[in-house]
Amino acid sequence: MAQSNRGRQDSGEHQYEEVSLIGKGAYGVVYKGRDLKNEGQFVAMKMIRIQNTEEGMPMSAIREISLLKQLEAYEHPNIVRLLDVRHTQSLGGEIQLKLVFEFIDQDLTTYLEKCPSPGLGPDKIKDLMFQLLSGVDFLHSNRIVHRDLKPQNVLISFDGQLKLADFGLARVYGFQMALTQVVVTLWYRAPEVILQAQYATPVDMWSCGCIFAELFNRRPLFCGESDIDQLIKIFEVRGRPIESDWPQNVSLPWNSFQAFPPRSVSSYIPEMDPVGMDLFEKLLTFNPHRRISASDALRHKYFKDCDIDSVRTTSSLSPTSTSESDSTDGRSDTPVSK
Ligand code: ADP
Ligand code: MG
Repeated sequence: MAQSNRGRQDSGEHQYEEVSLIGKGAYGVVYKGRDLKNEGQFVAMKMIRIQNTEEGMPMSAIREISLLKQLEAYEHPNIVRLLDVRHTQSLGGEIQLKLVFEFIDQDLTTYLEKCPSPGLGPDKIKDLMFQLLSGVDFLHSNRIVHRDLKPQNVLISFDGQLKLADFGLARVYGFQMALTQVVVTLWYRAPEVILQAQYATPVDMWSCGCIFAELFNRRPLFCGESDIDQLIKIFEVRGRPIESDWPQNVSLPWNSFQAFPPRSVSSYIPEMDPVGMDLFEKLLTFNPHRRISASDALRHKYFKDCDIDSVRTTSSLSPTSTSESDSTDGRSDTPVSK
């Protein structure tokens, strides 16, 4: 579909040349490209189509994109660089947005697939988790909930730098999400999202816990095939939550699930050390109010040999720094499934 418009509609000059298709997602396509004004350096171009309103581009989309541009000023090492934003008007009241990112060699899925036995090793895992949590902490302190953290959205550069991609766009897509019947993975999704309860920054911490397990096992932790199946898989491993932790006003009652007891972490992540397990359990805590925040996770004793100062410096630059567990944040309470 995007094929027919390729290359012709760049606003003004043809600065970016498409090289190959990288991926097709829920909202558009991602191409590998070259920046012809910058020595042909590789870029990743994400094309998004949004429906125009009478006044032009929807305000929510403009606001989100300018927020993403503002974040660029911090040059956070664990966030993929947004180099440029272009838009073109096309027929039928649609706008095509082109977000130009720095090109990163591979995502975490590929990285783990390529990793030879016996796996990454404890130091590498700790390093990647620290970078992941640093990126998430930066987003959260800027009031951005990623909402879709998963290995495909975590990029790893050739020198081992981890960078988060694909965040902050939920509001750009807006209601069009509801119109696109795409299959999105449930595997990293927090229980409150699946239950369609109110949610905020803690959803990303759940995803970090799932990724933590995957770094050890090199396979996903909870591979549910439907909403219910995903919840059952979570409860089989983590135990059914206590009734008082069950969210209010959700359609699924607590007692529709079997009373599974929690399993010991060592039975499904045998290589994780006890300190790592403590962090893991704090990430995969059912009740989002009691789930560990990104900034607390970075201060967990699992990371006692890591350089927290590098994180503090970048976060403290933030103009909108909020408390870590800011679950009343107005930006983060829109259900993704609506
Ligand atoms: P969506 O999930 O909305 O389709 P993403 O931004 O996650 O879009 O991109 C889809 C895929 O493209 C990712 O899984 C990743 O493999 C690849 N990709 C995304 N951003 C980059 C980038 N900056 N450099 C290289 N590859 C990327
Ligand atoms: Mg993605």
